Amino acid sequence: MKLSKYILPTLKEDPSDAFVTSHKLMIRAGLVRKETAGTYAYLPFGLKALRKISDIVRDEMDKTGAMECLMPELTSADLWKESGRWDKMGPIMFQIKDRNALEYALGPTHEEAFTNMIRSTITSYKELPVNVYQINTKFRDEIRPRFGVIRSKEFIMKDAYSFDIDQAGLDVSYDKMAEAYTNIFKRCGLTTIPVKADTGDMGGSASEEFMVASEVGEETLLLCDKCGYRANQERASHKRNSSKKTETPCAMEEVSTPDIKTIEQLSEFFSCDASSFLKSIIYIADGEPVMAIVAGDREVNDVKLKNHLKCVNLDLADDRTIFEVTGAPVGFAGPAGNDKIRKIFDLDIKNTVNAITGANKKDIHFKNVNPGKDFIISEEADIISSNEGDKCPDCSSEMYVKKGLEVGHIFKLGYKYTEAMNVTVLDQNGKTVHPIMGCYGIGVTRTLAAVIEQHNDENGLKWPISVAPYQVHLVGLGKGEDELTKIEEIYNLLIKSGLDVLYDDRKLSPGIKFANADLIGLPVRVTIGKNYFNDNKIEITVRKNSEKSETSKENLINSVKSILESIDK
Ligand code: ATP
Ligand code: MG
Repeated sequence: MKLSKYILPTLKEDPSDAFVTSHKLMIRAGLVRKETAGTYAYLPFGLKALRKISDIVRDEMDKTGAMECLMPELTSADLWKESGRWDKMGPIMFQIKDRNALEYALGPTHEEAFTNMIRSTITSYKELPVNVYQINTKFRDEIRPRFGVIRSKEFIMKDAYSFDIDQAGLDVSYDKMAEAYTNIFKRCGLTTIPVKADTGDMGGSASEEFMVASEVGEETLLLCDKCGYRANQERASHKRNSSKKTETPCAMEEVSTPDIKTIEQLSEFFSCDASSFLKSIIYIADGEPVMAIVAGDREVNDVKLKNHLKCVNLDLADDRTIFEVTGAPVGFAGPAGNDKIRKIFDLDIKNTVNAITGANKKDIHFKNVNPGKDFIISEEADIISSNEGDKCPDCSSEMYVKKGLEVGHIFKLGYKYTEAMNVTVLDQNGKTVHPIMGCYGIGVTRTLAAVIEQHNDENGLKWPISVAPYQVHLVGLGKGEDELTKIEEIYNLLIKSGLDVLYDDRKLSPGIKFANADLIGLPVRVTIGKNYFNDNKIEITVRKNSEKSETSKENLINSVKSILESIDK
């Protein structure tokens, strides 16, 4: 491909609305153009890289015996209603009507569509297990699309669904996918960390996310190097201190605390640290108010609380509701002397002694509040987030925290969809049973961004060969017909040998061409200039480590191929 005929609109400056490296580089190196907040057009250079990733995904999926399909994007509301997710998915779903008022959703995920397809095609255990997948667009009305293609409203996902006759079969299907995912990300040049994850709205038992360690990641990972525990903060737990504080419980007293509401203000007022307080947060869970009580130096983990309550919607209560259920404005809620509301106590609360809490009265707190005496622990659950330094739940060593970008996710779904949508097959005994499901997603477009996050320097991209849109960047520095013909000969030679070549044949200065080559970051640069015209010397530069070498026209192909073979080893 000749650059003079190619749409590659590179930019010198970072776009003003891009804050993370991959987003900046995808725009600057001409991979994508923004269409709207959360939608991107892939230009030829970006699409080539994306295809390389899809090809790797497809290859590894096919190797496991999974079968590629293609589901409609217009997914019928009837299917979503059958599974119960038409309402449950909420505003993330783009719901639309056709001219006859039939309702559809633009597929945000395709459990229902694939389950429906299997329902109408598989009848016997003999046909199981099956794993069906597609590489297709997903639509999600994200509240805050950001970081370019990392969180967009329209993105490409590989989603696979396995159907097995029993749990043991599902375990095998799941492990196969875990292995395929490890291979896929490795082949894309990514280092991933598989972590235990929450099963969220999908339902089901086991779930792992494949994370790329990255400062731009929106997930927080709790990691233990001693025993290998790895979990997303959404679901991570930690070993609790089982012993009660040794202080003697004192009698509860009211303290006047005018306008002192936040934990910081209270710490200063009472001259004690945040752990001496109990934080009482009011939520609305499916319309019902609940109070979550956690230590003052801890945060409520909304995912854990939601799972405990088994509710669909969980939101912080507004000021009016707080006043109604506590009798006080925001900042003075507490578990003592309030019987109006359902209370969920974190596991640590039973060990607190002489805590300070809101008194459910304006400008008043209680001190010396003690569980058992001043309030009853009516309902207890793990509802706090684990943090850096907390003890590993498996081996009690100290855990540490890393930011992670989720590129893939595998779930053991169980019977949720096959039961709800009544998918049945005949088992070995001729009995009608529901198959058991797993589902497995990879964000293909997000994976491209993750590759760029992990492979760049201050000058631009540094593609791993497996994903690079082209292998060779040919920089021609010649003038006049004779020189240009000689460069053209080299170009044809490279192409004939089967290499994928981008040839910079534009009439630009060497400085601009080299800067451009660094920015778009193809693995190998071949420079044809004076040294070649005079001495048959061709310069080869490896983008990854800037290593330069010289070769002749006769040895060019061998040199380039052996460099390409060795770079990413
Ligand atoms: P997230 O927690 O990041 O919102 P998710 O858990 O909702 O993602 P899944 O339903 O597990 O996503 O989808 C599988 C994969 O699709 C994710 O691992 C991620 O790589 C990708 N993905 C999800 N949402 C988006 C998005 N808005 N833009 C780009 N990729 C996405
Ligand atoms: Mg996920």
